[in-house]
Amino acid sequence: MTWEPVIGLEIHVQLKTQTKMFCRCPVGFGAGENTQTCPVCLGLPGALPVMNRRAIEWTILLGLALGCEISERAVFSRKNYFYPDLPKGYQISQYDLPSCINGIMLLPTANGDRVIGIVRAHLEEDAAKTVHVGGHSGRIGGADFSLVDYNRGGTPLVEIVTAPDIRSADEAKRFLQLLRQTIVELGISDAEMEKGTLRVDANVSVRPAGSDELRTRTEIKNMNSFNFVARGIEAEAERQIGVWESGEDVRQETYDFDAATGKLTARRAKEEADDYRYFPEPDLVPVEPLADLVERLRSELPELPAARIRRIETALDLERAMVLVTGGLDGLWEETVAAGADSVAAANVIANAVVGAGVDIGAVAPTELARLVEARERIPRAAFDEAIANLGDVGFSADSYLAQEAVSDTAELEPIVDAVIEANPGQVAAYRGGKEGLLGFFVGQVMKETQGKANARVVSELVRSKLTG
Ligand SMILES: [Zn+2]
Repeated sequence: MTWEPVIGLEIHVQLKTQTKMFCRCPVGFGAGENTQTCPVCLGLPGALPVMNRRAIEWTILLGLALGCEISERAVFSRKNYFYPDLPKGYQISQYDLPSCINGIMLLPTANGDRVIGIVRAHLEEDAAKTVHVGGHSGRIGGADFSLVDYNRGGTPLVEIVTAPDIRSADEAKRFLQLLRQTIVELGISDAEMEKGTLRVDANVSVRPAGSDELRTRTEIKNMNSFNFVARGIEAEAERQIGVWESGEDVRQETYDFDAATGKLTARRAKEEADDYRYFPEPDLVPVEPLADLVERLRSELPELPAARIRRIETALDLERAMVLVTGGLDGLWEETVAAGADSVAAANVIANAVVGAGVDIGAVAPTELARLVEARERIPRAAFDEAIANLGDVGFSADSYLAQEAVSDTAELEPIVDAVIEANPGQVAAYRGGKEGLLGFFVGQVMKETQGKANARVVSELVRSKLTG
């Protein structure tokens, strides 16, 4: 039987407002532990929360970008549970009446747009950060003691819940790349998984391909990069297929994914479902955004990444368009093409050489980059690489690099090509046996011999004619 994964994602995004959700404490990293706190976010008796207007607006803005309906009345509730990272004994969170519902995100694929449902996006406050010291893997089990840093407690957090519309680990990764870029471009969060400002949990089940049943799902947590999310989902789907095929039942559990070992570890199963005893937060009024505000925010939406991918893929292809847009590179690409560069060559140079050299994209002069893209086969590779590395410098000019000429004289290059071919009989046999990808290896060797001064296209032609001739 063929199996099909059914995946839904829950994404938490920390908003980069200046102050916390319900108090005036600053939001941010790097301050000394427990220095950014006050009676409100420490839950001291008598302290009252006051809503952060900007956090509300940004949540609505994100909801609009995700095609959501914006609720005319959203309500904050108290989610009660007892844990040291929650000094009040409850978290303030939108619950049954969230700010944003029923959205969709279009994920461009080679076979048209995949429609991923957005069930809701709601606003809540983040819990404090707990650090477990001693033991292994930083988990509470086996730790000697735990420390709590309340600086993070009360930071505005948006939770986005997708419908179980995602069908593969790769699709989950692409969705997250696109969502992250959308969030970053809205300017509401840095959305960095390594820093914890973007956190992803995945709900995974499997079913016979083509059926529309929903089987028992499990939840995977603790994945701190998009690649780990994909690997975690893949591992869990495989595990579940094994369970079903052995005649057993998948149990509803939560797993931690360990990227180092690729292993999933089940958390201790809970005896019963959580009961958070939600009730409306009596210290806050409902959120009732005026239609004017919603329309103003809608008019401020920029052209979103998914639409840009569709627009520029006509000049490139889907993969290149996706890489450029989700990398925040398509603006530079468009300007470079407008300055006269070939569109595919410019995309390749930007996505590979420029990014690889760690150049500050915002500092690049597109006209100079366009000149380099045009000249990349004529000038020596070493000069090209050096030019790219310096591309972000103030007042960068391509002139001195363009003045250099790569060695294109076949009489000069031929002996070097011959020597490389003679020195690598194994690769020659493999190439002639059909491994044509080895062409790059030979070109690379010649480049090394000439200290990057040879014309790569001429060398490539020379190698090919000698190996096939
Ligand atoms: Zn505070």
